[in-house]
Amino acid sequence: MKEKFSIEMREVLQAQRDLLTRGLADSREASAPVELDQTRQGRLSRMDAMQQQAMAQASSASSRARLAAIEAALKRMDEGSYGECRECGEAISAGRLRARPEARLCIDCESEAESQ
Ligand SMILES: [Zn+2]
Repeated sequence: MKEKFSIEMREVLQAQRDLLTRGLADSREASAPVELDQTRQGRLSRMDAMQQQAMAQASSASSRARLAAIEAALKRMDEGSYGECRECGEAISAGRLRARPEARLCIDCESEAESQ
């Protein structure tokens, strides 16, 4: 991998890690337990609140998974194996890394894994 590209990808990964970390801190408040005070909240608004809470929890679960993948990618970058497919060892294309900086597999191995 060209050094310039590697520096670019490190910056992208770090920026995404910071963004996700901040997003998770914000959503901690949103996924706090819903207050079940029936006298202050109507049934509908309580349903709304519970639905919003469920959505916040689902999105923070996927954010956590993405954050873990990004941290793993940064670790591979430190080890010098970033951009290599974990399956076949071929270089992952620059276009694919730009679209998915945390990618662990080349496009061929990824579609192979998905079809199984
Ligand atoms: Zn591969």
